[in-house]
Amino acid sequence: MSKDAYRIVLLPGDGIGPDVTREAVAVLELAAAHGDFTFSYKELPAGGAAIDAHNDPLPPNVLEECLASDGVVLGAVGGPKWDHLTGAMRPESGLLKLRKALGAFANLRPVFVPDALAEGSPLREDAVRNTDLLVVRELTGGIYFGEPRAREPEGDHEKAYNTMVYTTPEIERVARVAFDWAGKRRRAVTSVDKANVLVVSQLWRDVVQQVHDKDFADIDLQHMYVDNAAMQLVLNPRQFDVIVTGNLFGDILSDAAATLGGSLGLLPSASVGGRTGLFEPVHGSAPDIAGQDIANPIAAILSAGMLLDFLGESRAAEAIRHGVAEALDAGARTADLCRTGHRRVSTSEMSEEIQRNMKAFFKG
Ligand code: NAD
Repeated sequence: MSKDAYRIVLLPGDGIGPDVTREAVAVLELAAAHGDFTFSYKELPAGGAAIDAHNDPLPPNVLEECLASDGVVLGAVGGPKWDHLTGAMRPESGLLKLRKALGAFANLRPVFVPDALAEGSPLREDAVRNTDLLVVRELTGGIYFGEPRAREPEGDHEKAYNTMVYTTPEIERVARVAFDWAGKRRRAVTSVDKANVLVVSQLWRDVVQQVHDKDFADIDLQHMYVDNAAMQLVLNPRQFDVIVTGNLFGDILSDAAATLGGSLGLLPSASVGGRTGLFEPVHGSAPDIAGQDIANPIAAILSAGMLLDFLGESRAAEAIRHGVAEALDAGARTADLCRTGHRRVSTSEMSEEIQRNMKAFFKG
């Protein structure tokens, strides 16, 4: 039988984007060497790199290649060189356009705090140890896109407004993503809303409950108000398995959850919903450390693991997670996480250590 051949577009982008994307590709290649699949890559410019080359943060041919691919692996975009640009010429606007064009309505951010990292958390070690949660944030609707929105004069002052709007299908589809993921994890979903105040949240709550009762009755579902969810994330993050919420609440809660592990360099993400998903670390382009072989590659490497999950290559994805956990357990730390008693490693050394552990996983 011929192997599955996946076409991947690589958008390393700017700053540390190329440093960490290189290591994501290295683990993908290792995973393919031990699996029944192959990858072909097309590396293209995005963000500042594309502005420099084509005067456009997401040139039309790059978007076309992304849409035709099986997965897009992005590093990060932006940096001081392009800070003077505005509107559609900004590096980040290329990224927003890409997410929209891919139909990526669900943003997945897993947060895992293994034993080895609990001591580096800004929160109490015993509260965060072994936190393992997934935030599923609705990404293409809600108040960030709702109409009408305006800032306009009213008498002798101004007024401004946005519209928080969700339709039943928009809620249903993101709820399904959350329940599907819960089915592969600890089978518990917390849906976060503000149904005590907002009508849009009352629809959100009803629809999530209906999707649950109809097709996912075997998953535990609880509803939680967003103010309580923010507090619970800090007090006792271990209680959560999958959190599903709208665009605005998800934006805020996922950043709060991101602090639990102690470094932005650890956090992967996937934006899914269309045929092709977008896989990228949560961090930015970190221009202060770019090109020095010191950036933490774990977020990018775990994002590659999420790509493998998305493609259905779950054993390979598991190998990546195992490789990362073992490297951290063995005391390897890039500069962002390094404290007394740790072994300081470079970007490439961390990646090599993860790959060694992946090889052991595949052998075992
Ligand atoms: P940042 O995430 O780039 O950096 C914040 C801090 O975290 C810096 O001190 C940086 O050195 C550190 N850091 C980030 N990733 C790291 C890693 N992998 N290993 C070690 N340390 C790491 O955020 P910022 O400084 O606010 O933004 C820098 C640029 O990145 C800006 O142009 C911003 O617009 C852009 N940005 C892009 C994305 C994206 O591409 N998705 C996301 C956020 C910010």
